Amino acid sequence: MKTPYWLLEEKLLEKNLKILSSIKEQTGIKILLALKGYALWQSFDLVSKYLDGCCASGLYEAMLSDEKFKKETHTYSPAFKKEEIKDIATISDHIVFNSPNQFKRFANLAKEYNPNISLGLRVNPEYSESPVEIYNPCGLYSRLGTTIDNFDESIVKQIDGLHFHALCEQDSVALEKVLEIFEEKFGKYLHKMKWVNFGGGHHITKDGYNIQKFVSIINSFKNRHPHLDIYIEPGEAIGWQTGTLVATVLDIVHNGIDIAILDTSTEAHMLDTVIMPYRPDVRDSAKVGEKPFNYRLAGNTCLAGDIMGDYSFDRPLQIGDEIIFEDQMHYTMVKATTFNGIALPSIVIKRLDGTIEVVREFGYEDFRDRL
Ligand SMILES: *Cc1c(COP(=O)(O)O)cnc(C)c1O
Repeated sequence: MKTPYWLLEEKLLEKNLKILSSIKEQTGIKILLALKGYALWQSFDLVSKYLDGCCASGLYEAMLSDEKFKKETHTYSPAFKKEEIKDIATISDHIVFNSPNQFKRFANLAKEYNPNISLGLRVNPEYSESPVEIYNPCGLYSRLGTTIDNFDESIVKQIDGLHFHALCEQDSVALEKVLEIFEEKFGKYLHKMKWVNFGGGHHITKDGYNIQKFVSIINSFKNRHPHLDIYIEPGEAIGWQTGTLVATVLDIVHNGIDIAILDTSTEAHMLDTVIMPYRPDVRDSAKVGEKPFNYRLAGNTCLAGDIMGDYSFDRPLQIGDEIIFEDQMHYTMVKATTFNGIALPSIVIKRLDGTIEVVREFGYEDFRDRL
């Protein structure tokens, strides 16, 4: 198979979905897929068997949910445009506004286009243990969600649900704290609501996540508020450790250290390694010095900083060797670009029955036609 390519393994995806589904059984919550993190619709036949729908961040994601997932569509955007409200409302089950201002501008319009739509407001609990500031929706001066000081009681009677998103790759302990503060600040409105949405960032499918604690947090919240439907909308937890990005060594150059140039790129294909940042795991490799042969792995763009990191291997790398980056399904293909004219990785799915399907290949036109 021609590299670079992403390889999703449905067996691994199903393992995650079964964990999420068991949580649904133990709590009665509904779980939505956050398309922002994972939108590989060619796998939605499988995902939609287990999850309840998608959370979309605007018109296009809502359209994808409607067209390819065909269950619930919940749409939130930091700010909606007037010309998009009709299309969004028509295909959404929930619409969540970011501010009382947006709510007042568009709630009635949304209802007009879809009388069954449920109206929500995103609130900002102003508490988060997010490990990095770029992924902290409750940081200083955050535009995401309405703080209690900016809450406008005049719209309460029209709101069906409250939404918060405050976590990032976190355990249930963090949820417990955020939920406590959410209830402290916004609890007085909950008796008027029909639902709550606890956002994403729940690292449920990661080894070691305390699922029992999650279940007990949710069930005790339910005891306090039995009339509320509860949603969560993880993205990363769905795609977590379900596949790889496979690349080839194109050349090995030496400048103080050995540097292997690959037919992939951090900036174009693994952007989170740059902005989180983190060092992606490479199959059969270790940290520098732990194995005898050390290399810096770097991308095939002209960006000097296009570097995956320094790794060691049991054998010397050769031109033509495959390098397999682990856990490259979430927040990768949804962000990939053709920066520097670099080829987009193909998308390959290993189906449950073992067949391998190349679902998408990209060419020159994909580079040209974005411009
Ligand atoms: C990003 C995001 C999610 C998904 O977050 P994950 O960390 O991928 O679980 C859910 N809801 C909202 C509003 C988001 O912005």
